[in-house]
Amino acid sequence: MREAVRYHAYRYFVLDDPEITDAEYDALYDQLLAIERDNPALITPDSPTQRVGGEPLNAFQSVDHRAPMLSLGKCSTIEEVEAWLRRCGSDLDRDVGDLMCELKFDGVAVNLLYENGVLVQAATRGDGTTGELITANVKTIQSVPLRLMGEGIPNWVEIRGEIYIKIADFESYNARAVEKGERLFVSPRNSAAGSLRQKDPAMTAMRPLSLFCYSVGGHSNDYEPQTHEETIEDLRRWGCRVNEYPTKCANATACADFIARVGEMRDSLPYEIDGVVIKVNDLATQRDLGFYIRQPRWAVAFKYPPVDARTQLKDVDYQVGRTGAITPVARLEPVQIDRVTVSNATLHNQDEIERLGLRKGSTVMLRRAGDVIPKIVANLETGDGPEIKAPECCPSCGTKLTRGEDETILRCPAQLACPAQLQNAVIYFCSRECLDIRGMGTKRVEQLLEAGLIKRNSDIFTLQQDVLVKLERLGEKSAQALLDAIESAKETTYPRFINSLGIRNIGEDTSTLLADRFPTLEDLINAGYDALNAIENIAGTIAQNVLDFFAIEANREEARRLVALGVRWPKRETPTSLELADQIWVLTGKTSRPRAEVKAMLVARGAKVSGSVSKNTTHVFAGENAGSKLAKAQELGVRILDETEFNALFS
Ligand SMILES: [Zn+2]
Repeated sequence: MREAVRYHAYRYFVLDDPEITDAEYDALYDQLLAIERDNPALITPDSPTQRVGGEPLNAFQSVDHRAPMLSLGKCSTIEEVEAWLRRCGSDLDRDVGDLMCELKFDGVAVNLLYENGVLVQAATRGDGTTGELITANVKTIQSVPLRLMGEGIPNWVEIRGEIYIKIADFESYNARAVEKGERLFVSPRNSAAGSLRQKDPAMTAMRPLSLFCYSVGGHSNDYEPQTHEETIEDLRRWGCRVNEYPTKCANATACADFIARVGEMRDSLPYEIDGVVIKVNDLATQRDLGFYIRQPRWAVAFKYPPVDARTQLKDVDYQVGRTGAITPVARLEPVQIDRVTVSNATLHNQDEIERLGLRKGSTVMLRRAGDVIPKIVANLETGDGPEIKAPECCPSCGTKLTRGEDETILRCPAQLACPAQLQNAVIYFCSRECLDIRGMGTKRVEQLLEAGLIKRNSDIFTLQQDVLVKLERLGEKSAQALLDAIESAKETTYPRFINSLGIRNIGEDTSTLLADRFPTLEDLINAGYDALNAIENIAGTIAQNVLDFFAIEANREEARRLVALGVRWPKRETPTSLELADQIWVLTGKTSRPRAEVKAMLVARGAKVSGSVSKNTTHVFAGENAGSKLAKAQELGVRILDETEFNALFS
């Protein structure tokens, strides 16, 4: 059973070539979960169900790498690559032989330690000798094998790789952050690093992280590869996700070709790279070449230069987001940058325009380095063009814009009466993180809105075949496919349903927290400020957003209408009694009952179980060898129970 789930997860996340449908996989996974729930003794740490199991951390522990993680010498021209090769040749007094050229991913380097094929530890690169332990967070990444497969797995082996976020995922993350008025990630690299450093693995699990493995670090003596190429093949065999581009090159000319080819396709790759790594392929030759201080002599990184371009700012457009946030977008005199023609750039908010002192016609410096969306980094010449003023009225509906007290962001308050907000709200509602209705992309939504078939989200569930076929570009077959997709989207999860309501500042993470606390839609609609505010990790402003949202009759009615039209989700575990309601427990130390059982006992009586002690914690159940959580609880004066006291409570 476990093998089957593991195998299909491998097909899906590592090979990107699934053999079964998502629904079939989910069913298989749920079955495994049920078996393990009934037989907790069968659970092993490498079971696919154990990806999100770690407890939140207060601080990251440091750990020594068994073999150091080296940094590479850098080249920025082909001449420098040739000089490096000549130096290697003269050091060795012979030719270095074949070279391996690989992409240099712009992510976060990690060191994965496998013992007897099982992932036991994951660490950041740190200073190369000592990194930070991020095992629980890394385990949540689906493309990280929890257990290696196949033959010839060493007793222990360090596998090195890069964790990254795809460009498309990064962009949708930032689009949401703009909506919520949150801080933006400056680059995919930055967002991967931030996600890995989440204190709570459950938060990391919600971020779309991926892994490429690219080399083997330290390993036990029972593993004796001859070439780097061979280790890459072994990684692939062991079920690690390996990039498709590593290429064997015979000489500097072949390397130059590879660098040029990668340079050309760089902008069409779904992930960010910042160069090419060139390594001597033969491992014995690598050992002969050795190191210079902390850098290996047998490898070098070719870095593509960051590209700046000068251009003119023609004007600034203001776009209206899903919740009415107004975002300025720079319209530029088209310019070539990094082989791409750029004609607009992000400006985030009006303050950015003022900070740079931009006017219409200003000459600006654009940069695309690590960042996907080009950015205006400097105002080179302001000029005497007209000032750029934020609009007073919504560019879509003409309603007077408002600015919240604590916000830098302008908003259109018209909500769904504003065509731009309605369109973005419907697109969001249909997106993958909400109801995931396939075929309802931007174009289709636009068309349905224009035809007047949708005036609010729930109207999607009233669409009929005979009306749809009258639309342009929508034949009988694709109309039916769309209706089928809409029908199957009704089957969703409760957190995704909450997310789809489009409450301001509420994303996937917060929706899950709300779903845990308020088991039914009516509970959520009737939630009071205090109950909302008591949820850990939910700030007062968010509680107010929920309250404001459901205070509006139309919003309550829309949420209920969705349910009436058939949107449904599996029931979440509900408390059998509420004697412990409003209590927030933290479990720590070793107890004679399995922790999951203790947790279930508490949840069944209405308590909430949290991973870390805070001022909101009401009770701490401390078993043997309780550590920092116990100390924190004592410091905060939280009620602490030992095993005897706990058992007495439940007798
Ligand atoms: Zn508007």
